[in-house]
Amino acid sequence: MNLALVTRGFAWHYKQYSDDEDLSEAELAARRARRGLWADPNPIPPWDWRKQPRPLERDEPEFVAPVDGQHWLNTTTGVRHNDTCANWGKTKRGRACGPDEGRACGICGG
Ligand SMILES: [Zn+2]
Repeated sequence: MNLALVTRGFAWHYKQYSDDEDLSEAELAARRARRGLWADPNPIPPWDWRKQPRPLERDEPEFVAPVDGQHWLNTTTGVRHNDTCANWGKTKRGRACGPDEGRACGICGG
């Protein structure tokens, strides 16, 4: 099974854990023939691929704690709160903002 996959260029011979001569030969032959993954001039081995840093999650919450007196903008809804509001600094996403940013909260007046 391993040999068949490596021969066809569908698998890497994982040299770190295997010193099987047949697999080494099969991989070299597959590389020379540019079979399977070797058709890519610069394939990334799976053990290197896994080491690459992952990009930031897209829905990572944006959150910077505000200080007293600042206004708070819920960056999901665009609603602004002042520091007397229960939502001030408490929304899942948000940041400190100026008194004119976003829409004023209906409860605290922004
Ligand atoms: Zn509010």
